Amino acid sequence: MAVQWVLVCHGLVTLLVVVSFLCGQWPIFQGTPIQRIHSFLTFGAYDYFLRFVGIVFGAKGTNAILSVEYFCCDRPNPILQVLYLAILGGTYFLIAKSSFSYIPGYYLSGIHRYTSLLAVGVGILLFLLTSFSDPGTVKAENVSHYLSAYRYDNIIYSEKECSTCKIPKPARSKHCSVCDRCVARFDHHCGWMNNCIGERNTRYFMAFLLWHFLICAYGTVALVLVLVGRAKELRVTYILTVYYGVESSFFDLAPHVVRWLLSSYNTQILLMVFLAIVSLLLLGFFGYHAKLCLTNTTTNETFKWQEYMNWQEKLNEARASAAALKASLNGMSSERKKPPESKWKALFRKSPLQDADLVVKKNMYDKGFIQNLSEIIFPLSTRPSFSQNKSKPH
Ligand SMILES: [Zn+2]
Ligand SMILES: [Zn+2]
Repeated sequence: MAVQWVLVCHGLVTLLVVVSFLCGQWPIFQGTPIQRIHSFLTFGAYDYFLRFVGIVFGAKGTNAILSVEYFCCDRPNPILQVLYLAILGGTYFLIAKSSFSYIPGYYLSGIHRYTSLLAVGVGILLFLLTSFSDPGTVKAENVSHYLSAYRYDNIIYSEKECSTCKIPKPARSKHCSVCDRCVARFDHHCGWMNNCIGERNTRYFMAFLLWHFLICAYGTVALVLVLVGRAKELRVTYILTVYYGVESSFFDLAPHVVRWLLSSYNTQILLMVFLAIVSLLLLGFFGYHAKLCLTNTTTNETFKWQEYMNWQEKLNEARASAAALKASLNGMSSERKKPPESKWKALFRKSPLQDADLVVKKNMYDKGFIQNLSEIIFPLSTRPSFSQNKSKPH
């Protein structure tokens, strides 16, 4: 049974590290060990490493590391693109090598040898499409088109000029410091794609996420069916009950079957656990972005809205305390004239702080699910109505 526990621990540790690394900054993990592991993995460990290099190799060593960091994180580079292709290719190769000999099997027909290849091929195609498509670069030649497609809401976007590109900044655009260009309806810069995700390629990015979730789920289910099929073909339960005298109940058989699987098919089980974890992460990531798309908000705007709401809340609080102070000063001067308020009434009287206006997010770009979705699939700047707009003077 020791091998089983090692595998369970391996799965749990992998899950903890991956979830902490990718999702540790989410508000739900605030103050938990997951957030601490996240900050260690993202900044802490690197900080210690830099200090260590500084002590051992001096300033030269630190500078060398910083220039590598600059190349890897602050400039466009294909490191993560190559890593993605290596992970996808490596996983497919391992599955083919370890499991294709069992296809066709008891539950899977021979067609899955080809459909799996097709699925991976489409995945790579979507990756290339997202990586090499124009995210909606704003240039001097097309800035007027984007300005007419994206109006300022005067809440989180107001008329501004990009200090680097020296052109007006259309609403919802942002200057990507990695790619050094302004991008319309900027969502985020994606290291894996080595490209920005913006107005024109959010659709490919979403298709990429959904498709990769489906591939991973397909792989997980296919591997489960390969293993269950093997158990059926080799008549494992029959042998265990007849030759080994194991009781023919699920709880009696399960530990023996699991032990047999772990000793004979550990590669498939590791691949299955890996694919299941990645598919869940991809589903979460897709769900998060789908919610943003359906409410016509970008990742970049979620930060802007958060900033705006915090600022408004502080403003309201300040206003409410000023009002409370004024009321108490007035109260002091008129206290003697008024009969004393009953304690019961005072208890239920609203605090002046509660009178503060509730801060609401007025996202004028949110035009309802269907319209929002159609803006993702047919970006505003690619529409014929928009091409007509561009010739109109503003
Ligand atoms: Zn710019
Ligand atoms: Zn970028």
